[in-house]
Amino acid sequence: MPEKLFCDFCGTEISDDAEFCTKCGTIFIDDITCFNHSDDDAKGVCAICHQAYCKRCGLRVNSIFLCNEHSNYEIYEGMARVFGTSDEQKINYLKSVLEENSLHPFLYSRKSTPLNLGGPDYLAAAHLTGDRDGNLVYEIKLLVPCSEVLQAEKIIDEIDQSTLG
Ligand SMILES: [Zn+2]
Ligand SMILES: [Zn+2]
Ligand SMILES: [Zn+2]
Repeated sequence: MPEKLFCDFCGTEISDDAEFCTKCGTIFIDDITCFNHSDDDAKGVCAICHQAYCKRCGLRVNSIFLCNEHSNYEIYEGMARVFGTSDEQKINYLKSVLEENSLHPFLYSRKSTPLNLGGPDYLAAAHLTGDRDGNLVYEIKLLVPCSEVLQAEKIIDEIDQSTLG
């Protein structure tokens, strides 16, 4: 049995031929250059689009390496927010559709958040948004693993298109 390998940075189990960690974007081999700058060493692989980028083109957000284009995603517990609403029915529907497409969605809200999460993530998730009547409502966030973000957004887009018309 080969020894199990784990990412130095985030502890995710990785295969022995992995070139980078798909969870946090840490690169394990040398000689990977930036997708934009072929003379610069890559500092990480974007967890969302899986391209390698140098330190000018990407950064770590909550321990996960993201390219500049994808660095605006909110990251909670290693997962990225792809949708947010206070409409519980809608978000449960979206979650079930993503599950049917073999994705791994997770709902993040004050109600379903285990108390033991604690810390800044918990406070961030509880941030308040106002609805049309000015009442304060809690946003329920639909999270997916970073590597599923692009797929999930495509599916959500298609649902929105079809419900709109
Ligand atoms: Zn990692
Ligand atoms: Zn990216
Ligand atoms: Zn670059």
